[in-house]
Amino acid sequence: MNFEDFQNIKQILSEPKNIVIVPHRNPDGDAYGSSLALYHYLLKLDHKVTVVSPNDCPEFLKWMPGEDQIVIYESDTKNATAILQEAEIIFTLDFNALHRVGDRMYQALEKLDPMYVMIDHHQQPEDFAKFTYSDSSVCSTCQMLYQFIDKLDDLKKIDSDIATCLYAGILTDTGSFRFPATTSETHRIVANLLDKGANNSEIYNKIHNVSSYNRLQLLGQALQNMKVVEEYKTAYISLSQSELNKNNFKKGDTEGFVNYALSLKNVIFAAIFIEDKKQGIIKISLRSSGDFSVNEFSRNHFNGGGHINAAGGRSEESLDNTIAKFLDILPLYKSELQ
Ligand code: 5GP
Ligand code: MN
Repeated sequence: MNFEDFQNIKQILSEPKNIVIVPHRNPDGDAYGSSLALYHYLLKLDHKVTVVSPNDCPEFLKWMPGEDQIVIYESDTKNATAILQEAEIIFTLDFNALHRVGDRMYQALEKLDPMYVMIDHHQQPEDFAKFTYSDSSVCSTCQMLYQFIDKLDDLKKIDSDIATCLYAGILTDTGSFRFPATTSETHRIVANLLDKGANNSEIYNKIHNVSSYNRLQLLGQALQNMKVVEEYKTAYISLSQSELNKNNFKKGDTEGFVNYALSLKNVIFAAIFIEDKKQGIIKISLRSSGDFSVNEFSRNHFNGGGHINAAGGRSEESLDNTIAKFLDILPLYKSELQ
């Protein structure tokens, strides 16, 4: 987006509008953080604003300022549909393709014709929005949103709620400031967010120190199941539906498990395969360190995508067959996995 686009958006937002903000399905800290930060910001500009999320978030995000105001499409479809139909502007946050809201909400959106504004940091954004503010080199959509507000020359409106939401998203999407996309600019922005009232230690604790006993038991099972393919510097974890059930699995419990596989010495490619009998799929998370693109790997073989070092995908085959397919594919990447 250029200077003129930002001037245009500023102009459009100078009069009260009906606005809906949509994060991706299975919202993470960055999706909810950016959506809620934008929500609080647009309320300050006197717009009528609702966040409509395709489905609910995990427990560890349930404290975020404004989270209790979010309308969940999956469980409150009628209300959510009415709100979407009223929207003059729909902001889509933290995703690059409209279908990532899930099949049912996607079909609902396809019937509408609002002005879309995309703010995102995933590779290869689809061309559905009037304004697309996208940069895949940026660590998080929350950092993009900070920059977006900066381009509107409105940083002064960032209060402690907005700062808290933005901080939470940057924290989670950078793996607590560890991942390579974390830059000096990220740290400068985060420093400003602390000055605006984000409490770093409190936010970290609310997100990371809330494991249930069951979650840690499930992690134990995941680590027991971990396999290493030394030849391809690859490690993978599987969790079957019965293992999930045995440990009283709740949404979000497996968050971060895949990183244990990547933390092994000499491993540069890690995967986790999680059986979901209800949806009839295997949910796949992929991580890498260095140049190996899990985004491409997922796009090519598992109907997904994401970033170079973090991507997701799915398979409609059984858990065993999905893993067998994965192992069959590895030799194709022999030279990259050395
Ligand atoms: P996770 O493994 O944590 O679910 O996802 C890792 C990254 O890949 C996140 O940035 C997420 O948004 C993205 N991602 C996950 N699943 C998909 C998918 O099915 N398609 C695309 N394009 N990106 C995905
Ligand atoms: Mn993100």
